Order: sequence, then structure tokens, then C-alpha cells
Amino acid sequence: MPFKPADNPKCPKCGKSVYAAEERVAGGLKWHKMCFKCGLCQKLLDSTNCTEHEGELFCKMCHARKFGPKGYGFGGGAGCLSMDAGEHLKADGQN
Ligand SMILES: [Zn+2]
Ligand SMILES: [Zn+2]
Repeated sequence: MPFKPADNPKCPKCGKSVYAAEERVAGGLKWHKMCFKCGLCQKLLDSTNCTEHEGELFCKMCHARKFGPKGYGFGGGAGCLSMDAGEHLKADGQN
């Protein structure tokens, strides 16, 4: 079970408190129903087609377009997750 923030968590989108009646949950964060939409195409999302990425919401299609279907480390700043095939070769040569 992930940690629980304060009683009324803030919506990452608008920064206002989210109440249970209007909450949507994604990526451990709570969003207003009206804020629960794709950051690129502004389409309203639900729990089945949303993708949370570092505090932002995207629909599956925009997420795939922005971050790539197979690409962590592409425009994302998470180089540590990559399985870069060149890395060990380079280390090998310099050591
Ligand atoms: Zn909101
Ligand atoms: Zn979208």
C-alpha cells in the first residue's frame, strides 16, 4: 500500500483540494474529474485509458507518441532506466 498524503490531497493539475466525490486516481495521485484529462489533446480520461507520467496525465495515444512505445530515456530524463547497449562497451575500452 502506497503512503497516504494528507486528508484532502491536492490535484496535481490545478493545485486545489480533491474531495472523494470528484476524485480520480492515477499514479498514486488524486485528480479532479474535470482535471483528469490528457495534457496534450485535452481529452477527458478515465481510469482505463489514462497514463500518468511524472505528475502529468496523458491518454494512451499521446503518451505513446510523446514518450515512445519502447522508449524510456527518450525525452524523459530517466537515463538510469535504459538498457543502453553501448555503455559496457565504452567502459570496457577505457578501462
Ligand atoms: Zn484539479
Ligand atoms: Zn491525448
